[in-house]
Amino acid sequence: MLSQLIFLGAPGSGKGTQAKRLVAEKGCIQVSTGDLLRLEISKGTALGNRIKTTMSNGSLVDDKTVSELLKINCNPEKAVYIFDGYPRNLEQAKILDKEILSSHPSKALHFEIDLSILKDRLVNRRSCSKCGAIFNLISHAPKNHGKCDLCGGILEQRNDDKEEVVLNRLKIFQGAITPLLSYYKETKRLITIDATGSQDSVYKAVLKAAGLL
Ligand code: AMP
Repeated sequence: MLSQLIFLGAPGSGKGTQAKRLVAEKGCIQVSTGDLLRLEISKGTALGNRIKTTMSNGSLVDDKTVSELLKINCNPEKAVYIFDGYPRNLEQAKILDKEILSSHPSKALHFEIDLSILKDRLVNRRSCSKCGAIFNLISHAPKNHGKCDLCGGILEQRNDDKEEVVLNRLKIFQGAITPLLSYYKETKRLITIDATGSQDSVYKAVLKAAGLL
């Protein structure tokens, strides 16, 4: 039985890009709590408005809200899920094991990268408002300024990729990752991926770790 995949990594470590490729080439299903939260905000619901305030300064949304959103959007019976951006703390890791994964095997892939590289990556990140493709103005620039190479959609910068918010998000990540790594190490599910290489080399390492080669 294939393992469910838990992607751990700082914002900008490339885990979202790798997840999208696994979806396209291997039929996995990516579930990103950041995307689910942004979708809720775009609907303009009362919950969405509450979340918006929290997310706009880079802080974490409360565990209950995020976990409920996740539960209604995944079913590991059906496919290999990639949990992208969840868990963000030990409590969420335990909820994931107990209430979502239960008896399904899982692996935690840690996308390891020096945090000093990430600020530049994040402030230069742009994503397509139409298809979600991710670009970087320095390392993976679109061919036409401000337009998606794949579908021609308008490229946007996420509000929380602005410099002052990025610094807060990286600080929060740094505080949260150590107990998570210990948790997955103790339960013998942790695999470290060197996330500093090219997208292709990281992808190869991901396939190997996931048992999908
Ligand atoms: P991301 O797209 O993963 O970088 O997440 C963007 C923002 O969404 C974070 O800075 C948090 O405010 C919120 N968020 C995403 N996932 C979680 C989570 N698992 N727990 C709490 N907040 C989250």
